[in-house]
Amino acid sequence: MKEVDDFLTNPRLLQHYSLLKELGVFEYADSLRRETRDYEALLAGAAAIFKRTAIDDLLETTVKCISDKLLPSFLVFLWRTHTGREDIVVKGYRNFKETDVSLPLWSIAPFDEFFRKYPTPISYELFEYQFDDPALTQPFLELRPEIVVPVIGPSGLYGMILVGSKVLEDQYTPRELAFLDKLMAFASIAIQNHLHYEHSVRDQKTGLFNHGYFMVRLHEEIARAKRGGLPFSVIVLDVDKFKTFNDGFGHMAGDRVLEKIAESLRSKVRDGDVLARFGGEEFTVLLPESDREQAWNVSERLRIAVAETEVPWDTPLPRVTISSGVATFNNAIPVEGAELLRRADDALYGSKERGRNRTTIWGAGLLFRTKHFIGEF
Ligand code: GH3
Ligand code: MG
Ligand code: MG
Repeated sequence: MKEVDDFLTNPRLLQHYSLLKELGVFEYADSLRRETRDYEALLAGAAAIFKRTAIDDLLETTVKCISDKLLPSFLVFLWRTHTGREDIVVKGYRNFKETDVSLPLWSIAPFDEFFRKYPTPISYELFEYQFDDPALTQPFLELRPEIVVPVIGPSGLYGMILVGSKVLEDQYTPRELAFLDKLMAFASIAIQNHLHYEHSVRDQKTGLFNHGYFMVRLHEEIARAKRGGLPFSVIVLDVDKFKTFNDGFGHMAGDRVLEKIAESLRSKVRDGDVLARFGGEEFTVLLPESDREQAWNVSERLRIAVAETEVPWDTPLPRVTISSGVATFNNAIPVEGAELLRRADDALYGSKERGRNRTTIWGAGLLFRTKHFIGEF
């Protein structure tokens, strides 16, 4: 801005002050200054947004960048997860803080075609007019956003950002709208990046982590444990007699059962545990900082949770069970990831041999099992 100040205080300019004022040169200089400030804010915002890797951080940064410039009454981000059936995640913010919002929206598919054609923010009025079907716009009625920003990428509409009306004045100025439009374009790309990443590490059917991600985390955990970290364990779980289940009730019912099993497993592990669908009807869990006794307890908790899971279907379905095998990494005798998994698999085989619906710990010997299965032998 120094150049502008030098220019404005130049004595020769002052000689022609009235003429320049009449021509609107000063106003123009002012508007350029404002525009530069907007661009600076925009670039700072974009840099801050792209630095964030966790989605919550990313959304909070976006909210902060917008609220520094204009004060919307609320901001709502929503996107589809594409795991299992189409789920919509909704995150709302008021006064910089995350807040619950009521948005009974189950799918954004009906808006896909329109936003593919017109991939820019539109006023809610226009949005309502475009989708002249009350059933479609009904979910937005209570919220009544002012602006709808599409999050659009190579595979269509990923989500939307809903911007509430201004807290202080009625209308956004064209300059504010232009700022919002550009900042949202950055936020939208950052959200897409997040979704693409999630997509690459998740299993589509269950939403759990996939095989590839599990292996990466397993190798990381082995490296950590070898550097002197605490022991950790892996559990391999396999659905019992699932072929028979499919043969009796059909593959579709089988798929639904796998989704439900995934839900039950997810509800029983801690945040830091890595729960994956390893393939087919086999699941794995990586338990950082867990010795074999702790892993045994987790495995039993998971087994019991699955055995108690009911799966609603057109016809009544029997409950299914899982068998599991546990192996623990011990730094005194380190092994590689493949060997650790082989051991857990061996233990799983032991569970199947002994009648299924049970946990076996690798190498623990009969004593350990007897302690827990007293009465079953
Ligand atoms: P065991 O108790 O010995 O594990 O018996 P099992 O029948 O489960 O074992 P097997 O390996 O013979 O069969 C696995 C079955 O799992 C066969 C396959 O059709 C089924 N399966 C694997 N992935 C899926 C899936 O994504 N959906 C459905 N419905 N079934 C699957
Ligand atoms: Mg299997
Ligand atoms: Mg099986």
